Amino acid sequence: LEISGFKSFAHKAALEFPFTISAVVGPNGSGKSNVVDAIRWVLGEQSLKHLRSKSGADLIWAGSHTKPAQGKAAVSLHFDNKDGFFPIDFEEVVIGRKVYRDGTNEYFLNESPVRLKDIAELLARSKLGLRGHSIVNQGAADEVLKSNPDERRSILEEALGLREFQLKKGEAETKLTETGQNLDQTTGLINEISPHLRSLKRQV
Ligand code: ATP
Repeated sequence: LEISGFKSFAHKAALEFPFTISAVVGPNGSGKSNVVDAIRWVLGEQSLKHLRSKSGADLIWAGSHTKPAQGKAAVSLHFDNKDGFFPIDFEEVVIGRKVYRDGTNEYFLNESPVRLKDIAELLARSKLGLRGHSIVNQGAADEVLKSNPDERRSILEEALGLREFQLKKGEAETKLTETGQNLDQTTGLINEISPHLRSLKRQV
């Protein structure tokens, strides 16, 4: 992970994750969560709230008395793709993102400018997309432990991606109720008209 000018990373920093488990340790406020934010951000995160920021400019090194503020923040995530995890013909896949003070974002795939859509599609195709990775925020574990059964159920359902289906189910149920009401009205009308129809037939 290469970070430059992103949040508390005034200087260019490179972090390697050679093992399946890595721990980042440091004093409070030293920027540990900013590492997670950088990963979340470079993978296309659009919610500033999830990045603990109010604006795109908040993501850029704000300056200190020793190091002036920067004009842009850049993060890139380098993946070893020798096993073809990403379905593209490159041995290394580099996903990059930059943001400027005016809030403009740029996305890169192996140094070439691409659209956010291209990154999202690549992640989705490699099953690393929205559902393929989970970032558990600080406090989220506490939230699970402290929640009551109802809240815990909704946290689990959210994690499983059931929310989308529940919304669709709710919509379908509303439509079903409406259709049921229409059917009742129509049956009522048929019952009302049928006797007339019989007498009209006799007249014909
Ligand atoms: P904790 O252990 O308390 O959770 P942490 O090590 O996870 O802390 P972070 O929350 O990652 O720390 O980092 C917070 C630090 O990042 C703060 O000191 C904050 O001032 C700094 N920071 C955030 N955004 C910027 C920015 N745009 N420019 C400079 N510093 C920033």
